[in-house]
Amino acid sequence: MSDCLFCRIASGQIPATLLHDDEQCVSFADINPQAPFHALVIPRRHIATLNDLHAADEPLIGHLLRVAAQVAKAGGVAESGWRASFNTNREGGQVVWHVHLHVLGGRQMGWPPG
Ligand code: AMP
Ligand code: ZN
Repeated sequence: MSDCLFCRIASGQIPATLLHDDEQCVSFADINPQAPFHALVIPRRHIATLNDLHAADEPLIGHLLRVAAQVAKAGGVAESGWRASFNTNREGGQVVWHVHLHVLGGRQMGWPPG
């Protein structure tokens, strides 16, 4: 989708600080970090929200989670701890309509989330 910000980042049309890049997904630093370490992991293929997943997407979502763990390890937060979050739709806090996994670490996370 040419008008989607994260499709444009995945295709290299918009620059980002890349942390991981493979045939299925891309990870990059969040431009407005909410923790000392804050990365996003996105599928290359446009999927608007988790509500739009199909059974065939299950391996892709599993891959995003494994890449999140790799990125957290490379970012030095794997042992101290980190938070993975898919914000979905309005009350979930989603503002970019392309599935993305937040990877947050480097500080104590609160629970329940605000
Ligand atoms: P969400 O609220 O879950 O939709 O999160 C969207 C995230 O995308 C926010 O944390 C933003 O800071 C981040 N973001 C928006 N534009 C960019 C960009 N150009 N590069 C990196 N991260 C971005
Ligand atoms: Zn997209």
